[in-house]
Amino acid sequence: MESNINNILIIGSGPAGLTAAIYAARANLNPIVVAGRTFGGQLMFTTEVENFPGFPEGIQGPELMDKMIKQAERFNTEFIYENATAVDFSKRPFKVHTENRELYAKSIVIATGADANWLNIPSEQKLRGKGVSACATCDGFFFRGKEVVVIGGGDSAMEEANFLTKFATSVTIVHRRDEFRASKIMLERARKNPKITFITNVTVDEILGENAVEGVMVKDNLSGVTKVISAEGVFLAIGHTPSTKVFKDTGLDLDEKGYVKITEKSFTNIPGVFMAGDVGDSRYRQAVTAAGMGCMAALDAEKYLEAQE
Ligand code: NAP
Repeated sequence: MESNINNILIIGSGPAGLTAAIYAARANLNPIVVAGRTFGGQLMFTTEVENFPGFPEGIQGPELMDKMIKQAERFNTEFIYENATAVDFSKRPFKVHTENRELYAKSIVIATGADANWLNIPSEQKLRGKGVSACATCDGFFFRGKEVVVIGGGDSAMEEANFLTKFATSVTIVHRRDEFRASKIMLERARKNPKITFITNVTVDEILGENAVEGVMVKDNLSGVTKVISAEGVFLAIGHTPSTKVFKDTGLDLDEKGYVKITEKSFTNIPGVFMAGDVGDSRYRQAVTAAGMGCMAALDAEKYLEAQE
C-alpha cells in the first residue's frame, strides 16, 4: 500500500482545492483530489456568479466549477469522488482514508471549505435560490429596488445589511435577541443607515411565498405575537461552520470555532499540511480569495517537497 505514495493530496474540490490542483498539476506533482461525494463546494448551490473575474457576462456557479475541474484534469489531476473519513497526520507519509481507499501522501492541502448555517425551516430550503440566500456579496445585486430582510446579529449581518442598502429600498435586520454579537462600530454603522431598521427578540417562523419570497413571518419571543415583514429577499447571516470534523484530534490546530489555524503563509502547525480557502477563512469567504489561497498552498507545498528531497 505505502509503495503508492503521492506527492500531494488535496482534500476538497471547491475553488481552493481545484486551484491548488491546477497549480500542483502544472508543477508535475500529479495531485490527487479527494473531491467528496458532493463535489464543487458552495458554488454548486449558487446560481449566477458575477464577481469572478474573467466572466463579464457572469457564469452559473456549477458551470464555473465544471470548468475548474476540466482545467485540473487537463494537467493530469486524479479525482476521487469520495469523502475523506479519517486522516493520520502523526506519521510520514500522511494517510487519508476515504470510504473505499487508503491514500498516502508526502503533503496535504486541506480545502474542505465551510457551510453557511441555515435556520433549517422547510420554507427556507424551498425558496433557496429563489430569493433566499446566504451570501449578500454574491446575490445582493439581484435585489435592486426591492425590500430585503437580513437574519442575524453578528458582524456579517451588519456588513451584509449595509452592503445591501446599495441595491435594496429597505433592509430589515431580524435578530433573535436584544443584544448583538456584532462589534460596536459595525452595529453603529448599521444603526445610522437610514435604509436599515431592526426587529429584535423575534424568531423566524416561516419565509412566505411559493416560487419567490413574499415576506417573513416572525414571532415575538416575549409576547408570542406573530407579524409579517414584507420582503422579496432574505439573507441568512447566522454564521458558518467549517468542514473540519475529520481533522479533530489529529494534532492539527483548529481555532475555537473549528477553523484551521495557519502559522504563516498557508502552513498549518503540521509541516507538510497546508490550508486553503474558507476552511481557514471566516472573513473573506469569496470564490476568488479561496482560489488565491489554493494557489498559495500549492506553491508552498511545492517548495516544501523540494526542500524534503
Ligand atoms: P457570528 O458572529 O457567529 O454571529 C452569528 C449571528 O447569528 C449571531 O447574532 C447569532 O445570534 C445568530 N444566529 C446563530 N444561529 C442562529 C439561529 N439558528 N437563528 C437565529 N439567529 C442565529 O457570525 P458572523 O456574523 O458570520 O461572524 C463570524 C466572524 O467573522 C466573527 O468573528 C466576526 O467578527 C467576523 N466578521 C468580521 C467582519 C468584519 O470585521 N468586517 C465581517 C463579517 C464577519 P446570537 O447572538 O443570539 O447567538
